[in-house]
Amino acid sequence: MVETFTGNKGLQIEEPLIFEQGSKDLSAVDISELDIELDCLGGLTRDGEIGLSGLSEPQVIRHYTRLSQKNYNIDAGFYPLGSCTMKYNPRLNEKMARLAGFADVHPCQSDASAQGALELVYTLAQSLKELTGMADVAMSPAAGAHGELCGVMTIKAAHVDSGEDANRSIVLVPESAHGTNPATAALCGYKIENIKTNDQGRVDLAYLQDRLSGDKGADVAALMLTNPNTCGLFERDIVKISELLHKSGAYFYLDGANFNAVVGRVRIADLGVDVMHINLHKTFSTPHGGGGPGSGPTVLSEKLSKYAPLPFVEKLSDGSFKLVEHAEECPSRKPFGRMKGFNGQFGVFVRALSYILSMGKDGLKQASGDAVLNANYIMSQLKGDYHACFEGYCMHEALFDDSSLKGTDVTTLDIAKSLLDEGFHPMTMYFPLVVHGAMLIEPTETEAKDTLDSFIGTMKHILTKAKSDAKDEVLNAPALTPVKRLDETKAARNPVLRYEK
Ligand SMILES: *Cc1c(COP(=O)(O)O)cnc(C)c1O
Repeated sequence: MVETFTGNKGLQIEEPLIFEQGSKDLSAVDISELDIELDCLGGLTRDGEIGLSGLSEPQVIRHYTRLSQKNYNIDAGFYPLGSCTMKYNPRLNEKMARLAGFADVHPCQSDASAQGALELVYTLAQSLKELTGMADVAMSPAAGAHGELCGVMTIKAAHVDSGEDANRSIVLVPESAHGTNPATAALCGYKIENIKTNDQGRVDLAYLQDRLSGDKGADVAALMLTNPNTCGLFERDIVKISELLHKSGAYFYLDGANFNAVVGRVRIADLGVDVMHINLHKTFSTPHGGGGPGSGPTVLSEKLSKYAPLPFVEKLSDGSFKLVEHAEECPSRKPFGRMKGFNGQFGVFVRALSYILSMGKDGLKQASGDAVLNANYIMSQLKGDYHACFEGYCMHEALFDDSSLKGTDVTTLDIAKSLLDEGFHPMTMYFPLVVHGAMLIEPTETEAKDTLDSFIGTMKHILTKAKSDAKDEVLNAPALTPVKRLDETKAARNPVLRYEK
């Protein structure tokens, strides 16, 4: 590789931290020395250097622009990160969220001055109830995991209300669950008990049946199931699972983060679900790479509805909208509390409603169908080369294990690193844990066939290379990125969070 004088590689520019740039003589602001007495600061006047870089305005702009370009994103390229639903976010939604009446609304405004915003929250809530068939929805949770917390706290409130809480200390979580499920239950004080996955990647029904038989289920508060599950498979026994739970007095939590696979096709209420969170930022299109923003409205059955947290938006008989914020305002309910300071992730609500209305009933149904079709296209094209873990069709994501790499020294990690050189964000690796060296690929419905073909071709090419004399290229990938193999364990265990010269 050519070494350059600057350290830059073509137009990929080495970017030092902002504290490592600039000279103290420069400043992007141009104000004259103060000629006033500073004693009004009560002796807190700074007496040393401010310690900020002296940079001109264009230097600052370039620094942050370059940093932003180092962030791979869905608008830059294919992003098949399984379980994350990284799909294209239509610009129309962004335009709606930026309308001044939405973007500038303040959560402390009076109801009378925010009727449009309240109507939007109400209308979105109605849409989510319509799409799931559920009785109610708590809109305030700020992400998927926060929605899970809301759901499990609602379940706990119901058990407390019926006097059963002390007996029901266990939450059942299948092995193929998303990691946030057991974490949520643990945070609510429950003991976690694993439910086995069968050789078809689904909940072992016989095992569950036995666990709940007779009065053996009397200590179970709930089961948390992801469907489609993290193996990308539909839990076909889901109705049976819900019946078993209800018979033993437990609630059925559905992790609805993978709703994108079933929107417009499955009415969640028909499955016997008591509570489910929806990741608006995944299914209903908000940019969510890099940790935010999210929104996790949580739909509830009739039975759990009254324990839902505050606040919620009510439509009054004169057609106006009211934000109900206090338990005294809704005596027929028993809200367990609040999930967050204000009323929910309003900007994400705007995007989600804009998406739902612009897609329409038919469009949403086609989107989930296309998401499943795209995943099955990848599955069908790759399964002669990579080993597909389970028989039959998948839902919105295709899961492979690493058995096709046997005898090569090449691992799932090396395949992912090789994808970087080829300009693809890697798939989700080593998750779910139920298969060895997992590669979980979620293309979503917004990718064109050309993109899928290019990815499929690349995956085959890397595998061929892994099995040839050029194996070292795979083992040493990436060769073309500014930073190569990182010590990821060290980065996770000893993160350096503070800059020191
Ligand atoms: C993404 C995801 C979550 C968590 O959602 P966040 O918004 O990231 O908190 C939970 N469960 C599943 C199955 C997911 O894919």
